[in-house]
Amino acid sequence: MKIFQSFLNGQWIGEEKKSALKSAINGDVIGYTHAEKPDFSKVTQYARKEGQSALMHMDFQQRATCLRNLAKYLLEHKESLYQLSRETGATRGDSWIDIEGGFGTLFAYASMGRNQLPSGNLIHQGSAMPLGKNNNFAGTHILVPKGGVAVHINAFNFPIWGMLEKFAPCFLAGMPCIVKPASATSYLTEAAVRLMNDSGLLPEGSLQLIIGSTGDLLGQLIEQDVVTFTGSAQTARLLKNHENIVKRSIPFNAEADSLNAAILAPDISREDSEFDLFVREVFKEMTTKVGQKCTAIRRIIVPREAMPLLIDKLSEKLAKVSYGDPDCEGVRMGALASIEQLEDVKAKIAELSETSELVYSQDTKPQGIGCQKGAFISPHLFVNHQPLINCAAHDVEAFGPVATIMPYDSIDDALSIAALGKGSLVTTLCTKDPMIAAKMIPSLAALHGRLHILDAQASLESTGHGSPLPFLKHGGPGRAGGGEELAGINAVYHYMQKAAIQGSPTMLSAVTGEYVRGAEVIETDVHPFRRSFESIQIGESLLTHRRTITEADIVNFGSLSGDHFYMHFDDIAAKESQFGERIAHGYFVLSAAAGLFVDPGVGPVLANYGLDNLRFIEPVPIGTTIRARLTCKRKIDQGKESKDGKPQGVVVWDVQVTDQNDVLVASYDILTLVAKDGVKENSLQ
Ligand code: NDP
Repeated sequence: MKIFQSFLNGQWIGEEKKSALKSAINGDVIGYTHAEKPDFSKVTQYARKEGQSALMHMDFQQRATCLRNLAKYLLEHKESLYQLSRETGATRGDSWIDIEGGFGTLFAYASMGRNQLPSGNLIHQGSAMPLGKNNNFAGTHILVPKGGVAVHINAFNFPIWGMLEKFAPCFLAGMPCIVKPASATSYLTEAAVRLMNDSGLLPEGSLQLIIGSTGDLLGQLIEQDVVTFTGSAQTARLLKNHENIVKRSIPFNAEADSLNAAILAPDISREDSEFDLFVREVFKEMTTKVGQKCTAIRRIIVPREAMPLLIDKLSEKLAKVSYGDPDCEGVRMGALASIEQLEDVKAKIAELSETSELVYSQDTKPQGIGCQKGAFISPHLFVNHQPLINCAAHDVEAFGPVATIMPYDSIDDALSIAALGKGSLVTTLCTKDPMIAAKMIPSLAALHGRLHILDAQASLESTGHGSPLPFLKHGGPGRAGGGEELAGINAVYHYMQKAAIQGSPTMLSAVTGEYVRGAEVIETDVHPFRRSFESIQIGESLLTHRRTITEADIVNFGSLSGDHFYMHFDDIAAKESQFGERIAHGYFVLSAAAGLFVDPGVGPVLANYGLDNLRFIEPVPIGTTIRARLTCKRKIDQGKESKDGKPQGVVVWDVQVTDQNDVLVASYDILTLVAKDGVKENSLQ
């Protein structure tokens, strides 16, 4: 019989069997956890030494590319994971959320890394700000790899997505991780880690896996480490208060259980399409993954008069759910992840039954051979008639296809009922009235991590109540654990250390690897646009010749662009304006500056693809003499090629346009693609 192994210190370990892991479908033993107890002191040291060092041999861009390749590899090998995922009780659709949802998160972070992170292993969170009158002293922020290891303790319901949504930002940040999946479904995580390892793409020590107990792992952590946790509020509390975690102030991010709600607003009548959308959303959340989603709707808050119809419509849909072995024809809902979970859900149903009325459940048997030994349960729908008084449904999380309808009499009541969840991951508000949304959402937001507003238009493309997206925050306050995951590139920052730095602009430039205004510049006889990506240096700069802005310039630019705004053409109106005279178009100043600094010949600069941080700081009246300073601010090597197959990199240029008194009139960054020449970096010739 198979023994599921840990992957620690670069080796798969586990020969002796310990606890049986059983199929959720028929109770058959799939294999065993292992009995060997790892030495977690060695495991953490290996991560900090080998894992750190391997990750630091790469930079953000290379790790992003690695994530993308890993995601591609996993996608090509997904079928074996689907086969195993069935044993967790999941239908093909449920498995898709876990498996391909996980790969999608890898792809998303790969793309965020490539587009939003620099080359190197330091993030400059600028802009730097002058701290003295003459800009001799400035301040800014940097983020650096912590140098420690992340321990990810995950829940049973998403054995693959749960691992990858934490692994992706952690890996990008340059932090090795030790993943501890929930034992019940750890065989699927093990299979995914084997694939990741087989890909040959993972740097040594960057990912370790524990099957079974974490032993004294938390006691081995140091100040530079991080713990993230998903699971029950009780375990979160226990682990967060671990003596060593408290003593060393080790960051602990918790995502715990949550009594998520769906609110039907009072403006929705039975004739509105939104009514059916609401029913569909609640139904989907109750039955997808057998309701085993941390985001699933547990509390259905509806106007009192809408309640009877809602019960009918929801019950009608639930009655069509056939549950059982996902391999059986027509089965829509699978099993809970384990018999232990089944017992837990049954106990919670019994608890809810004491104060709420059960209005729907099925007494049918699950379909499929051997399913009587599986972890099956039919959907259960309750009504809590006095939700402001009877609080069980706000406290008891039955982690299965179980939800409770709660009537309200006013919007304020609905908000009070939602607040009794004491902090949730997500709530859906179904309304077609923007004023209701504007009134309710800010109030709900104080106690939620995410709010999903459902109406007919949103439904056309909605990703749904229950789907955390890589680009948006996942995690809620209070009972939901108080943590934050995903939220785009922010998730990477959670695994890095932020520090403020102060010093001269030249020092800040050297540290951040970005030109900071006021720093010494490098001026040579070669125009910066003649340099290849490799040879251009940060701080390399060009101060242009001058140009006096004439009335003819304004007239010509107005004719060319069609912009005849009074400030440029109406003498009287311009005199009465705050500027007291006609001024040049801001966009003309930009164009004129480009004319000053661009080197016209064919060269390594391949394209100008945008502007950032544009500000027109002072007006430019007729007769002003402008000049520009162009300075290489930042270089990003994404390892990309141009359309004709030539390697290129991104160069960001700081542009300052000044007048005859050296007053800054316009300021911006321009983004260019610059060809590589294959010659080693920073060799000025
Ligand atoms: P637990 O909190 O018991 O387990 C979550 C994770 O913590 C698992 O990996 C578990 O490992 C691990 N763990 C448990 N105790 C310790 C410990 N002392 N030291 C280190 N690690 C530990 O949650 P369950 O998975 O049992 O689920 C219980 C309930 O939690 C569910 O019924 C549901 O209500 C809620 N839940 C909420 C989720 C959410 O995302 N918000 C997700 C899943 C569950 P092991 O499995 O080996 O014990």
